[in-house]
Amino acid sequence: MPDPATPCGADNRKEILVRVKGLKKHFPILRGLIWQRQVGAVKAVDDVSFDIRRGETLGVVGESGCGKSTTGRAILQLQRPSAGKIFLGDQELTALGEPELRKLRPRMQMIFQDSYDSLNPRQSVGQIIAEPMVIHGDQNRTLSRQHMRNRVAELLDLVGLNPNHISRFSHEFSGGQRQRINIARALSLNPEFIVCDEPISALDVSIQAQVVNLFKDLQRRLGLTYLFIAHDLSMVQHISDRVAVMYLGRIMELADRDELFDAPLHPYTQCLMSAVPIPDPKKERNRRRITLTGEVPSPAHPPRGCVFHTRCPLAEDICSDKTPAYREILPDHFAACHFADDKGGSRIQEP
Ligand code: SF4
Repeated sequence: MPDPATPCGADNRKEILVRVKGLKKHFPILRGLIWQRQVGAVKAVDDVSFDIRRGETLGVVGESGCGKSTTGRAILQLQRPSAGKIFLGDQELTALGEPELRKLRPRMQMIFQDSYDSLNPRQSVGQIIAEPMVIHGDQNRTLSRQHMRNRVAELLDLVGLNPNHISRFSHEFSGGQRQRINIARALSLNPEFIVCDEPISALDVSIQAQVVNLFKDLQRRLGLTYLFIAHDLSMVQHISDRVAVMYLGRIMELADRDELFDAPLHPYTQCLMSAVPIPDPKKERNRRRITLTGEVPSPAHPPRGCVFHTRCPLAEDICSDKTPAYREILPDHFAACHFADDKGGSRIQEP
């Protein structure tokens, strides 16, 4: 059986830039005021494996609390994983100490969701964008003030902002412009890989498309690789090459974007896809929405067997007993469902 972290398919000859193998991030639950002891763990990410190829965008979708952001932070080692291995190129990030990781930081950056909280209101735009160069300058080369100023102006221009606004403060910009400042800061060290953690969800709808198009344009021009975390399926469909669907800390399905949206194999993905509006009034009128019942279980007490079985319309006895393997059902199309390969995928029937 092929290794889920090494998918095969048309595109697999592309170089793999990021490799995630068996990633787990569990947060301990502690009890006791003075002598604290661990009484459990929140399994935010539980045994996740995937690759990201150089120059592609891997979209990650799922409900709030499914572990999307924790996965992104764990890949960048902003939160150290509880188990598993993460590689950037041929470097195993999980085996490195802080000094070695610091040397690799310029190659991997993050763009945060909240463009207000992630910018220091006391710093000018120039200082914000130059800060990574100041911090990492000694390990690359000591940059002159003029060189840094030129680089900041170049980055502002690259993200569609006026280079003459270098001395302004972040509160003088709109939400979309502030996110562009965040993007410029992330680009300042010429990274190869960027984790975009819901970078558009706090923006007005009219601005979202502009920022997504900026991401695509920068990728084309600079050869960037993205892990794009979002809950807006239409945006993920627009920007991603492949898409991973997460539920309760696990990947339920991972496939090429078009294949996943056209013919999802996993019942959870089918439910999510049924919520995507269709830009054709006739088809949209006939769109059947599959509504999931019940609450998402707590990641501190995930259900036995398939974690989705408490809400799955297709669940059978085996589902509450046995955890389905995350496996390759079709070339380069992975799913974790006992019945995903039955007749080309489990199908939720019309009521
Ligand atoms: Fe549903 Fe069972 Fe498949 Fe889980 S394994 S998604 S519960 S049919």
